[in-house]
Amino acid sequence: MPDFDLAMARKRAFHTRSKAIEHLDKHLIDFETHFTRHQGKMIWAPNAENAKTELRLLLKDKAVYTLSHPLLKELGLQNEKNWKYLDKEEIPEIKEDGIALIFPSFYISENGSLILQDHLGLVDILLSHCQRIVYALGIEQVCPNLNEAENLLNLLARFGEGQKDFTSIHISFGNRQVRESDGPKESWVLMLDNGRSSLLAEIPQRQALYCIHCGACERHSNFQGVHADLMPVIDLIQAPFTLGQEHFQDNFKLPLSGRATKSCPVGIDLKGLILENRRVAVDRKLEGRSDALAWKTWKTAMLNRKWINKSGSIKNFTLKSFFKKYWGEQREFPKTAEKSFNEWWQESRGRSDH
Ligand code: SF4
Repeated sequence: MPDFDLAMARKRAFHTRSKAIEHLDKHLIDFETHFTRHQGKMIWAPNAENAKTELRLLLKDKAVYTLSHPLLKELGLQNEKNWKYLDKEEIPEIKEDGIALIFPSFYISENGSLILQDHLGLVDILLSHCQRIVYALGIEQVCPNLNEAENLLNLLARFGEGQKDFTSIHISFGNRQVRESDGPKESWVLMLDNGRSSLLAEIPQRQALYCIHCGACERHSNFQGVHADLMPVIDLIQAPFTLGQEHFQDNFKLPLSGRATKSCPVGIDLKGLILENRRVAVDRKLEGRSDALAWKTWKTAMLNRKWINKSGSIKNFTLKSFFKKYWGEQREFPKTAEKSFNEWWQESRGRSDH
């Protein structure tokens, strides 16, 4: 068996995701056609409120079994009183008439199937015990076919779990057919938009939708340790378009070290997108007032020879005070050189600046 060519796999993943997102409308229609052919039902949720209402209606008075997932957080359903979160508590006895709410990694538009990863064996328990299944996912979690899904799953295993290969997955297709012995009697797909199509309309920021949620950028960026209260990097890039433009300001807190970009298996230009978001924020005058003031002061200072030639301690104190909030408490603010270039030039070359 040939060695896994990681560089090629990453290029291929970028191509797969970019093409799929570009033709998202077609893939969604194809998926619906195939999934409903297997008697599955589609629920289209334009926003989180709508999704919550639909889910509560469908799951009302039923025993609900689910797993913790970022999508539940997005919908504000991460702590429902009567639901059983199998990864958070001891596994209860699962009632046959209960409903499982699970979260596929991808939907396959070519044949209407859903790819479910199952690291802990909990998805297996839900699929084998529950006759009714609700699959919830975002419109961007598309993959055109199973061949490409294999490549994406391999990358997810390597970058998400540090494994060489993906291990346990399930492929689900709508409802159990007449001569089939397993599969759910009833199944629904909740397809969530919730601002994703607004992001799709933005070029180049739509690239953020190529994310396959491996979590590598979060682990490799030094940002999360400093601002533990903020969302992961990729969510912060998406947030101004999916949650509201007040989130543009958070993009000024993200570092531009490029570490997150290098760690992305799909090759999303995270650093470029952060810069792009900052540019949009400035163009639309949406950066914070303190940011605007800080940069105005910076510009004035940089155009002033007297200030540039001030002693290092004064410059260090001023810069540290201005950017204290964004730099955080845990990092040492970089120090400026004791002498400006102009001073160094004059001293070392022994002639005045012109
Ligand atoms: S953006 Fe982050 S979470 Fe998404 S695929 Fe790239 S590294 Fe993984």
